Amino acid sequence: MIELKTDSEIEKMRSAAQIVARTLDLMEEKIEPGISTEELNEIADRYIRSQGAEPAFLGYQGFPKSICVSIDEEVVHGIPVKTRKLKAGQIVSVDVGTLVDGFNGDAARTFAVAEVSDEARRLMEVTRKALENGISQARVGNRLGDISHAVQKTVEDAGFSVVRDLVGHGIGRRMHEEPQIPNYGDPGTGVQLKAGMVFAIEPMVNTGGYKVKTRPDKWTIATEDGSLSAHFEHDVAITENGPDILSS
Ligand code: MG
Repeated sequence: MIELKTDSEIEKMRSAAQIVARTLDLMEEKIEPGISTEELNEIADRYIRSQGAEPAFLGYQGFPKSICVSIDEEVVHGIPVKTRKLKAGQIVSVDVGTLVDGFNGDAARTFAVAEVSDEARRLMEVTRKALENGISQARVGNRLGDISHAVQKTVEDAGFSVVRDLVGHGIGRRMHEEPQIPNYGDPGTGVQLKAGMVFAIEPMVNTGGYKVKTRPDKWTIATEDGSLSAHFEHDVAITENGPDILSS
């Protein structure tokens, strides 16, 4: 069952999502060659707590850190490590979750470390655009497949592929609620969208094939062919007035 949120619940979710957004702004400021992924984790953890929130990923199903940091061919769920320092030319996906007043926020962005290749730049632009186009379909009366299809079409028209094993999700009192939101699908299919639904929409896009594999650390998910991957995610409330991006 998809839980509908009241206006006051959506405002609580906005508070959680805004802390995520500001944490990601801070990550953008701090990302440069030489900083370790663990330093980013510590900065984010400190900031989230300073805002009266809890880092929702810490301990989630046993995840050991407060944010996920995934580099280049890593898609999601990279574990911050002290000895892993960023290098110019890499792309870095940072995924942040917060818990405030019983509600979750969850968003992600991919950043460039100094100058990156034209392909990496284009991958990030296409993934961001796919998220934007998916969000624009998050309207009362549309169906879930309209969101999925808009993401898939944007990505595949650009010659990239969408990860299929990982999906977006409903969000609220729990980090992952129904429904699952695949980044591929057919328009006009799936559940009908209603005001009060809140979704974490999150395209994960590869320059190569769509297949992924889990690394031996049991968390990090990387592209099977070693191609680059980008990830952008927003929390979006569906309202009578259209999509309301809580994490912008
Ligand atoms: Mg998510």
